[in-house]
Amino acid sequence: MRRLDLRSLAPSADEAATVYGAAVPRAALDVEHALAAVRPICDDVRERGTVAVLDAGERFDGVRPAQLRVPASELAAALAGLDPDIRSALEESIRRLRVTSERELEHSLTTDVATGATVERRIVPMQRVGLYVPGGLAPLISTVVMNAVPAQVAGVPGIALASPPQVEFGGLPHPSILAACALLGIDEVYAAGGAQALAMFAYGAASDDGIDCRPVNLITGPGNIYVAAAKRHLQGTVSIDSEAGPTEIAVIADRSADAAFVAADLISQAEHDPMAASVLITDSETLADAVDAELAAQIGSAKHAERIRTALEGVQSATVLVRDVDQAVDVANGYAAEHLEVQTADSSAVAARIVNAGAIFVGPFTPVSLGDYAAGSNHVLPTAGCACHSSGLSVRAFCRNMHVVTYSDAALREVGDHVVTLAEAENLPSHGAAVSVRTSR
Ligand code: NAD
Repeated sequence: MRRLDLRSLAPSADEAATVYGAAVPRAALDVEHALAAVRPICDDVRERGTVAVLDAGERFDGVRPAQLRVPASELAAALAGLDPDIRSALEESIRRLRVTSERELEHSLTTDVATGATVERRIVPMQRVGLYVPGGLAPLISTVVMNAVPAQVAGVPGIALASPPQVEFGGLPHPSILAACALLGIDEVYAAGGAQALAMFAYGAASDDGIDCRPVNLITGPGNIYVAAAKRHLQGTVSIDSEAGPTEIAVIADRSADAAFVAADLISQAEHDPMAASVLITDSETLADAVDAELAAQIGSAKHAERIRTALEGVQSATVLVRDVDQAVDVANGYAAEHLEVQTADSSAVAARIVNAGAIFVGPFTPVSLGDYAAGSNHVLPTAGCACHSSGLSVRAFCRNMHVVTYSDAALREVGDHVVTLAEAENLPSHGAAVSVRTSR
């Protein structure tokens, strides 16, 4: 990987995030560029519905699905044909994520503000959600789990899922994705990918036969740059979880780190996408050299060597040299990686100082790929620097909360004068009158 020497940079604490955020480059094709491609696709789906979704499948995925919605018989057949080892691994992944999701589920709470005056924060599940599962370069069955388990734990009554149609499966999504859906009891599954799938969720889709997909309230799930761009475009029409685009890994490592572990982890995320980013942040040139040697050795035997090389040689991947671990923490916080690993002598203490990352993996025995499948954490995480303002997917994304306010006659009288005073100060006397009409009786 190319080297980026930031050792001479010494921004003030106030400027550090901005300076380091700009110093570590990201993929050349950013979400803004992809927006130009996805806007017409979304507009077409809004205007022409199901036909537009199927047309886009033919154009971008090379196959026109026989029908948009996957028949129940195909879901059942896929589950029946699922390899028992994959089934057992999926069941363990589901179990672990369910445990954390159940613990993270927030509960309604009621506050007594004064005698006879209560404000309840009521937590309610989203009523209808659309889950996106990528299917272009790899059949991400684990993403079915990461999307669906928190939605189910939150109690969402309407769950729909979309994944791209595959040429080799006659226009159906990959059978292992269908099997994972069936395993989780999700029966509303669509053969649709990319921006057209997300537009179908946002606007709904109908054909001459009637409504094929009803609109959803929330879209979640990762995808490539076009999926991330479509989420940005459709936000407002629907709610989204975060922009979870091409994957990123940053590793803070000092001379105590095992170069073979670090290289394997950088490669593991580069395997996702030629646009994936792998960034090593280290204060040790010796470790940087050792990691380069390990990368060269390990890539040779990797199944997706070409994709990995493209990602590691891309402008978005680099070894960043820093003075010390303090500067490494500042660089990591400025970069705001989707996945951040800490492999230093004092990993927990360093990890405690990280404020911007999608998820943090602490110590030499916590590789990102553990989190990709079966750590009990969620792998749908914000990319492209969005980790400084967005969170990874969790049960919280599938819930809304609303205040439920209940005051008695006496409780309203107790605070009524203050309401009238504030209403008059804002030149909105009718607001005050709505209180006075009650308290003057
Ligand atoms: P995908 O399903 O995201 O994308 C396939 C779709 O892209 C196609 O159906 C098509 O509609 C669309 N598309 C392709 N070329 C297009 C073009 N020129 N114009 C418009 N649309 C186009 O599958 P993928 O490509 O394999 O990408 C999966 C991505 O998901 C990877 O980048 C991976 O890193 C990422 N990922 C991210 C996370 C996360 O949490 N951030 C987790 C898992 C995977």
